[in-house]
Amino acid sequence: MSAIVLPSYDDVVERYEPVIGLETHVELGTNTKMFCGCPTDFGGEPNTRTCPVCLGLPGSLPVANKAAIEATIRIGLALNCTIADWCRFARKNYFYPDMPKNFQISQYDEPLCTDGYLDVEVQGKTVRIGIERVHMEEDTGKSLHVGGATGRIHGATESLVDYNRAGIPLVEIVTKPIPGIGALAPETARAYVTELRDVLRSLGVSDVRMEEGSLRCDVNTSLNRPGEEWGTRTETKNVNSLRSVERAVRSEMLRQAALLDAGTKIIQETRHFQEDTGDTRPGRSKETATDYRYFPEPDLVPIAPDPAWVAELKAALPELPRIHRQRLQEQWGLSDLDMQSVLNAGAVELIEQTVAAGTTPAGARKWWLGELSRRANESGVDLAQAGATPAQVAELQRLVDEGKLNDKLARTVLEGVVAGEGDPAEIMAARGLGVVSDTGALTAAVDEAIAANPDIAAKVREGKLAAAGALVGAVMKTTRGQADAKTVRELILERLS
Ligand SMILES: [Zn+2]
Repeated sequence: MSAIVLPSYDDVVERYEPVIGLETHVELGTNTKMFCGCPTDFGGEPNTRTCPVCLGLPGSLPVANKAAIEATIRIGLALNCTIADWCRFARKNYFYPDMPKNFQISQYDEPLCTDGYLDVEVQGKTVRIGIERVHMEEDTGKSLHVGGATGRIHGATESLVDYNRAGIPLVEIVTKPIPGIGALAPETARAYVTELRDVLRSLGVSDVRMEEGSLRCDVNTSLNRPGEEWGTRTETKNVNSLRSVERAVRSEMLRQAALLDAGTKIIQETRHFQEDTGDTRPGRSKETATDYRYFPEPDLVPIAPDPAWVAELKAALPELPRIHRQRLQEQWGLSDLDMQSVLNAGAVELIEQTVAAGTTPAGARKWWLGELSRRANESGVDLAQAGATPAQVAELQRLVDEGKLNDKLARTVLEGVVAGEGDPAEIMAARGLGVVSDTGALTAAVDEAIAANPDIAAKVREGKLAAAGALVGAVMKTTRGQADAKTVRELILERLS
């Protein structure tokens, strides 16, 4: 495939229109599996969290997990879906070593939630993403290929299977096709997954960690020339971060454009995203629904949620992230542009927690968007991992507000916090970093500065008060920034009047 010369992105979006679609799998944070009582915690010795049901042993019978059904209905409601008053599970038949029953219990033509939407912000514009369906299923086990260099099946000497994950409740959320977004397709995909993740987190139904696989995303992409029918789509799997979602769409657009330019047909297939190169590689050719021989699961009763219960769940939904952000923006008195920079920095929750810990929104924003964002960017980590907690930032700003630290000293104290030396007040005491405003202690430094700068002192005596600034600077220098500038200025003017 290396022979392909890729066109430029601008060139591609000028000549082609992308249509994207996203399928997201979410591991629910229930205590037990979807159809048995086995625990769901991450990790654990292989094959210790299993029972006859999730191992698919003959004669065992599944029972649906009520907490998982409830979580799915709440997700559907938060995504403005219609909740079915009657639906069934279905068997999806395929053979794979990590699937002990040789079928997966899923939902097919009778999903629990259908026809909703999620509004997302893309470069200041609201894009409404249609939600086709939200349905329940169970996760598979995990294959481990050992003895080879890559951990892949090629070159491995043995393959092992761990069934701890088999039967963990999964919810699949499928969007409708998203046309009409042109050059913004990659950003729209990322904005959707980000917003969806925030919604799921606000519902408390999953820990939504992409890197641990509790939120997994498949990205469908196709291209067509303006006025023509939609093109053949490919499905990119293994997209494990928000950034990768964006990169995967972009790279598929470039690859498909190069093929279409050369008159080659796009094959409907599954592709795998490569973290290292940012491009996609072919996987298996895509099965169609008929390959799976779906039929209603005979071992489970249909789900018929009581409308009164659904109404109760709807009434109890938490404030959704978008509404919550709008409320915060108003409370914090921020313009759209300022709020956007808070969002881009991933600082909304951190500022919210810092304000809750007792400081002003402006004080909190200053540290998170300034010094701490800079540090996070430098070390390539999320802002929350920059080395300070909201409580520490609130304490730091309180010390500034109380006049015990000036901005320069506060930055030195923050360095100590990031280095793990303790909380701001502790570091201030341990390093002797407080602002000195005691006139007795400052008089000597003031006299020294006047003696060392007779010319400047003379100007101040003649009434040129602006010249006093240079003397304040000299005192700040000898006190290593710890003098209270206001007190120093008063002392100088007193001495030279
Ligand atoms: Zn089990």
